[in-house]
Amino acid sequence: MKVAYFTALRELEIRDAPDPKLDRPYDVLLRIDRVGVCGSDVHYYVNGRIGDQIVEYPATIGHECAGTVIEVGSAVEHLRPEDRVAVDPAMVCGQCDQCTAGRPNTCRKLQFMGCPGEAPGALAEYRVLPAENCFPIPSSMTLDQAVLCEPLSVGLHAVRLGRLASDMRIAVFGAGPIGLSVLLCAKANGPCGVYMTDLLDERLEVARQCGADWTGNARGDDVTAAITRQEPRGLDLAFECSGDPACIDRAQRLLTPGGTLVLVGIPPVEQVSFDPHIMRRKELTFKNVRRQIGCVAPVIQMIGQGQIDTAPLLTHRFSLAQIREAFELVAGYRDGVIKAVVDLSSGG
Ligand SMILES: [Zn+2]
Ligand SMILES: [Zn+2]
Repeated sequence: MKVAYFTALRELEIRDAPDPKLDRPYDVLLRIDRVGVCGSDVHYYVNGRIGDQIVEYPATIGHECAGTVIEVGSAVEHLRPEDRVAVDPAMVCGQCDQCTAGRPNTCRKLQFMGCPGEAPGALAEYRVLPAENCFPIPSSMTLDQAVLCEPLSVGLHAVRLGRLASDMRIAVFGAGPIGLSVLLCAKANGPCGVYMTDLLDERLEVARQCGADWTGNARGDDVTAAITRQEPRGLDLAFECSGDPACIDRAQRLLTPGGTLVLVGIPPVEQVSFDPHIMRRKELTFKNVRRQIGCVAPVIQMIGQGQIDTAPLLTHRFSLAQIREAFELVAGYRDGVIKAVVDLSSGG
C-alpha cells in the first residue's frame, strides 16, 4: 500500500509499505478514503514539532480520517465489511486513572494517530484500528462529511466544556476549521449571539455563512472596541481558536465578570503572558481543551439531522499524489482554504 511520510522539514513523500494485517479480535481493517489536513499536521510539517512533541523522520502523518471497513476481527459486533465510518483517532487504554475518571482524552497511555511516537498516521491506503474508534455513518451521510467529524467533535467538546447556554453572547477568535466547528456546534446548541474575528476576510465570509452574527478583521479594525460598543456588559464566553496569544488579552477585556475563556488554539510559541489582574478582578475562568471526549457520535447525529451544515468547511480536494500541494496550500492560508481533504479514492 501507499503511505505518506514526513521525510524532513517541509518534505513529504509517498512510499510503498506492506499492507497491514488484522490479527486482534477487537480490531478492524479499514480502507482510508478521506484524510483531512489539520492545522496540527501543518505545524509538524513547517516546524517539525508542537511544543515538546518532536517529529523523528521518516514519520507518518494525519489523524482526521474516514474510511470503509474491509475486514472485522472475530469479536467485533457493531461493524461489518463495507460499513463506512468516521474515525476517532485517539486510542486509549481504558484502565488508567484518567480513563477511569472519564478523561480518556488525557489517557496516560494515549496513542493518537499521526502524533510523533504514537500510533501510525492516517495518510495511508489501509490502517488497522480498534473497532471502538470507528463510528458507522448513516447512508445519507457522505465520506466528505464523515472526515469533518473529528474537527467538529473538538468544536462540540469546547462548547460543552464552556457550558454554553441559550441566549449567551459569545466570541470565537479564529475562523479556521476549529473556530468554525465551534461556531457550528454553538449554533446547533441553541440560540446565541456569536462575535467572530480572524485576520482573513475570506474566512470571515465563511463564518457569516456558518451563522456568525458579527464578524471583524482583527488586523485592521479595533475589534475589541467594536464588540464592547455592542456588548457593554461583556460577553459570557470566549473561545480562543486562532493560537494567537494576543487573543487571551482580548478575551479578558471582552468577558463579563465571572465569564469563561476556553482555549482551543495551538500557540506557535512556547510561552505566553497575560494580565493576571483583569483575570483576578473579573474572576474569570480559563479552560483548556484537549481534543475531545465522546463527541464523535453526537456530531454524526447532528450532521445527519441537519443541525450542522458542513458544506462551507470543505474547500479543497487533493489526491494522495498531490499531498505536498495540499500541505503548502494550508500552510500558506492560500486560495481561501478552510479544510483541504485528501481523497484517496481519486487517482493521479
Ligand atoms: Zn485535527
Ligand atoms: Zn488510559
